[in-house]
Amino acid sequence: MTIKMKRPKAGFATKTIHVGQEPDPLTGAVVAPIYATTTYVQQEIGKHKGYEYSRVSNPTRTRLEKNMAALEGGTSAHVFSSGMASIVAMTQCFLKQGDHLVCGHNVYGGVPRLFNQVLSNYGIEFSYVDTSDLSAVKKAMRRKTKIVWIETPTNPLMVLTDIQEVAKIAHAGGAELAVDNTFMSPYFQSPIKLGADMVMHATTKFLNGHSDGLGGVIVGTKPHHAEKLAFMQKAAGAILSPFECWLVLRGVKTLAVRMEQHNRNGQAVADFLRHHPKVKKVLYPTFPDNPQYELAKRQMTGFGSMITFETGSQNNANKMLRKVRVCSLGESLGGVETLISHPATMTHAALGVAGRKKIGLTDGMVRISVGIEDLEDIIADLDNALAAI
Ligand SMILES: *Cc1c(COP(=O)(O)O)cnc(C)c1O
Repeated sequence: MTIKMKRPKAGFATKTIHVGQEPDPLTGAVVAPIYATTTYVQQEIGKHKGYEYSRVSNPTRTRLEKNMAALEGGTSAHVFSSGMASIVAMTQCFLKQGDHLVCGHNVYGGVPRLFNQVLSNYGIEFSYVDTSDLSAVKKAMRRKTKIVWIETPTNPLMVLTDIQEVAKIAHAGGAELAVDNTFMSPYFQSPIKLGADMVMHATTKFLNGHSDGLGGVIVGTKPHHAEKLAFMQKAAGAILSPFECWLVLRGVKTLAVRMEQHNRNGQAVADFLRHHPKVKKVLYPTFPDNPQYELAKRQMTGFGSMITFETGSQNNANKMLRKVRVCSLGESLGGVETLISHPATMTHAALGVAGRKKIGLTDGMVRISVGIEDLEDIIADLDNALAAI
């Protein structure tokens, strides 16, 4: 049974299709053109139509950035060549030597890798805390804390952080709150409405939705966000190409219908797994006995399609993962196809045994990004694969 939540989001689907997606003024083409150009002719020295060089700006990119800002309710958006590139740009814009960032201890594996193995070489300091525990966030704040970085629900343990409360703590300490909203997409969660200053997405995932283009976006709410991120696009250059901007513009038009189906399939698959005798535990916020169920209903308008479940051992996980046919064993998430993965050896291998133990990520855990295929086919496939355990 699908749990009804506070929906629909009025106007959201219209925005995905129309903001930044206006017909081409020159020809009337309904679909935004791909401006495959590096440079722009100037009428005389310094006189141009707003575009000079495509590292600085490009009309296809401008369209996507308008669209992304509108969907998250921000005032600016800047897109980069991958989700990680957008996090690099953001940290380089807003952190300098001696500054400190408080990070959730169970975020996308690439984030602590970047922080610990790259940015720490530049004198930036990081603390990792369980951000679902508000007192731990408060305790981690320092005089030099400039950013609090959270992901909710977390990957892959599906633990929620109260965005509104953490925003208050960050602001009281003179820091800004940045939320990685990749798992929920702007359709199911609006961090800016809850007090977040910046929102990040790997557009690679649900926003594009078709597993055919990497990308990242930082949505801002203040003039200094827009100014510094635009400068970083120009200065460092990890921008998203016009073609890949176009792929996201195309993919995002179906975000609302895709998310509805992801959510319906996700809830049904979570129910199926919960009642399956071979599955020891299911991590998904939809179950009323989950202590975070009320928070989930308060800050999300759907539960999405990311589910983690416990098979008991790496050997069991391996046995079932060898058998899947409709689900594909692979990294990534958020595509129309169901993707299934083994976090301990794939997305979270870089954490190491001790790091995984600390957050409670076991070798038997399997993560599934439920796609929008026919539900019966996904369930039959999982049932067949679980029989191998
Ligand atoms: C994939 C992902 C990223 C990184 O995005 P890339 O496009 O792979 O660089 C960051 N955060 C989350 C939650 C992700 O799922």
